[in-house]
Parts: sequence; C-alpha cells; structure tokens
Amino acid sequence: MRFCILSDIHGNLEALRTTLEDARKENIDEYLCVGDVVGYGADPDECVKLVAQVCSGCVAGNHDWAVLGKFDLHRFNPFARDSVLWTREHLSAQSRTVMEGWPLLYRNDPLMMVHSDLQAPEEFGYLLDVGDAELTFGWMDRPVCFIGHTHVPMIFEEAKQEIVRLDEEHLDMQPGARYIINVGSVGQPRDGDSRAAYVILDTDAGTIHFKRVEYDIPTAQEKIIRAGLPSILADRLSAGY
Ligand code: ZN
Repeated sequence: MRFCILSDIHGNLEALRTTLEDARKENIDEYLCVGDVVGYGADPDECVKLVAQVCSGCVAGNHDWAVLGKFDLHRFNPFARDSVLWTREHLSAQSRTVMEGWPLLYRNDPLMMVHSDLQAPEEFGYLLDVGDAELTFGWMDRPVCFIGHTHVPMIFEEAKQEIVRLDEEHLDMQPGARYIINVGSVGQPRDGDSRAAYVILDTDAGTIHFKRVEYDIPTAQEKIIRAGLPSILADRLSAGY
C-alpha cells in the first residue's frame, strides 16, 4: 500500500492542488490528512471540500477545533486569532459538518495519526525533541504515528529502546523499530523551504519519502491580502517560516 500523508494545509488551495497533482504521479492507494486544513489561508471552504473528497481519513488540528469553538482562542497569537475568526465567517454549513466529523486520533492497520502528540491530543502541545517523542511512543499501538502541528518535517526512530531524531528525505524503516513522522506542512512550511511538503509511506517497501513541490505562492499571497487577513500570513509563505 502507498499512502500519501498531508498536513497543515491551512486554507492554501494553490498549495493543496499542486501537491495533489504531484501525488497523482506516485501511484497512491490512499490519502490521509493530519489536520489544520483551515486557518491562515484564504480558501478554507474549498480546502475542506477537497480533503473530504480525496482523503479517507483526517484528524482535527488546533485551528480546525478553534474554528468549531472547541479550542480556546486565547491560546492563539493575535494574527492566528484573527484568521480563526475570519475563517468562521467563510465556511459553508456543509464544510462545518465535515469538520465536526474529524476525530483527534485516527488508526488503521499499519499506522496512526494525531495532530500534536498522543499523551494529550486535545491540548495541542508541540512534539519537538526526543523527550517529547518518548511520551508519544509510550502511547503508540502501531509501528508508525504521523503528526503535524510544527510545520517542520522530522523523524523520530525508536529502535532497541533508544530514540533518535533523524533528518532524512528518504527512510528505510528498520524491522522492529517504531517511528513518529512529522510530515511538515502543505500550506505554510516553517523549515526555511517555501515549497509545499508531504510524505509517502510505502508499506510493502517499508519506506518513508518526504516530498517538496513548488506552487503558485504569489496567487495564495494575493488572496490573503485581498481577504483582509493579516499581511504577515502572506509574507511568511515566501519566507518559508
Ligand atoms: Zn498548523
């Protein structure tokens, strides 16, 4: 099976469409999404509709939950809060219903997904280092857990009771080892690379592959400005931060 894993699309339709076009050339069997489909970008409704159409599973992120009124707005910085309020006004009832159906935790046979971490998914803390990874490994009941939230691609490998962080574009998974994979962000990368990020898991080959695709950043930026959203949300797309 070949899985395409998307995360942190953040209402960026240009990035999502280009990513899906790229993934179409990769013989994907199933598409999954690790949350934050909305917030920051100017096309939340279209992104929710496209995710609902393409992905067989999606978990909720902090922005998705905040838009639905399930996560406290005071835990956001001012421009993130502004974009949550704007997004609430620009979502169809149909998309809202779709989002209400997204759980915090998703499992299928080979993998699990959570937006932030497994010890307290509803708190949306940040899994940043080996210590944080150890807590999530403690809750894992699948060999691979996909996460998002930081917008920075990252791998944590647990083999022979030792956890290490790996920074590789391509990973051959070791038999008996377990993995936490941060897939990075489709719609607002923050690792200094402005290209949209996504991951392909091939369960037959036992590989994880990180992909980057260039997309039409100026159009996404123009839409953010035209919508009256904070201009920093446009600027950071080309900076990749
Ligand atoms: Zn996010």
